[in-house]
Amino acid sequence: MKNNNKTMFQFFEWYMPNNCCLWRKIIKMAPTLRKKGITSVWLPPAQKSAGGTYDTGYGVYDLYDLGEFDQKGTVRTKYGTKDEYIAAIKALQLEGIQVLADIVLNHRMGADETQDIISYKVDYDDRNKTIGDYRTIRAWTKFNFEGRNNKYSDFKLDWSHFTSADYDNIEEEHGIFRFYGKAFSNEVDLEKGNYDYLMGCDVDFNNLDVVNDLHSWGKWFLNQTNVDGFRLDAVKHIRFSFYKSWLQDLKREFNRDFYTVGEYYSANIDALLYYLDYNKEINSLFDVPLHFHFKEAAESGGSYDMARIFQNTLIDRRPTKAVTFVDSHDTEPGQSLESWVPNWFRPLAYAMIMFREEGIPCIFYGDYYGVPEKGIPSMQKLLDIFLQARKNLAYGKERDYFDDNNVIGWTREGDYYHQDSGMAVVLSDGPGGGKQMNVGKNLANTLLYDCTGNCKEPVYVDNDGNGIFYCDGGSVSVWIKKDNMYNL
Ligand code: CA
Repeated sequence: MKNNNKTMFQFFEWYMPNNCCLWRKIIKMAPTLRKKGITSVWLPPAQKSAGGTYDTGYGVYDLYDLGEFDQKGTVRTKYGTKDEYIAAIKALQLEGIQVLADIVLNHRMGADETQDIISYKVDYDDRNKTIGDYRTIRAWTKFNFEGRNNKYSDFKLDWSHFTSADYDNIEEEHGIFRFYGKAFSNEVDLEKGNYDYLMGCDVDFNNLDVVNDLHSWGKWFLNQTNVDGFRLDAVKHIRFSFYKSWLQDLKREFNRDFYTVGEYYSANIDALLYYLDYNKEINSLFDVPLHFHFKEAAESGGSYDMARIFQNTLIDRRPTKAVTFVDSHDTEPGQSLESWVPNWFRPLAYAMIMFREEGIPCIFYGDYYGVPEKGIPSMQKLLDIFLQARKNLAYGKERDYFDDNNVIGWTREGDYYHQDSGMAVVLSDGPGGGKQMNVGKNLANTLLYDCTGNCKEPVYVDNDGNGIFYCDGGSVSVWIKKDNMYNL
């Protein structure tokens, strides 16, 4: 059966202009995205956030306001209005593209009033440790949502729905303040002793009222938007059992499945595997260990052992559950998880996520369109070539040649359903070179050309499917049949 490769697109980045037009841009772009082979689009968080029109969407204020009510000084969000959001979702779905909504439930920000709360200050590096005695702090913890006037839900939040907050207005002190009688969940990542707390007012997933509201909200959100799945934010900071039951509940209620990718931001592969084993409702996690391998390789001045680049990554250990990526809005320069893979390496990294048999690659908006504010160039020309090559040619058996610490490569032998499919990929973090590889019999006795344009001379593949494929130093070459070049 003809089964095309899946490709995800993260359709936003941190520094995009606050011009209210993202949802509208998506409506315009949907047909083009389908033609490029995009099968799912990850949209940014759609709810009203503390920073109003300037907020990327992670400073969640009101989950029931998707750009509909006058709150935080604006009706629309950074990306547009609720009607435009729903229209963008429909436009993508009309093209057969799956829409993933970004769900941010770990914390809230931008409360309407302060409350006086007895609290302990917690050691930032060891969250199980308190510093000094309890004291009364004044924190922004009361959420009234007056602009919404009880539409959709009359549930309000106050300090009892949170474990902790990040600022005391009495002493004018930043820190983590855990409320008296509250405990961090013990079902979270164990970094810093207990990584329940991330930012803002940390939602207490042991509080039934708030948990029930989040279950109701999930159903409301799906009824309003009809999205196909979710990108779940900050799952390592949320009681692990929460999303398991939240997803079970939604699947039962709507009697359908939802494709779900979790953001478990950790380079610790064992932590990712533990989460996947625990929460079978989630389809995949982002391959964060692979992202860090890319970064390390790019910064090693050619001395990284490329033969080991996939070792102990998610795509290696749990290939069917990996969403591979190069960078995201969080890892961009100047962001909270800044760990940008240097630009020279990015074509190599994209080849390593887009032409492998396993993993769903996620293309980053900031790479496709560039991020002028940070000097990040647009890779659209190369990514368009890669997208077409992935859509049409990256099929069939994979043969690996990870036998050198600089020059590595692999081939895809193509399949019956995609005409002239198959390819040979070779790349190096150090000096250039050649590698004898076998591309299988579909491409035997042909000339292959480098679709990146880096190598100009073709490579002859003999009757047995063997050829010597080249790449330049610090570069990647992707060898395909010449007839395909015109389609790219
Ligand atoms: Ca938390």
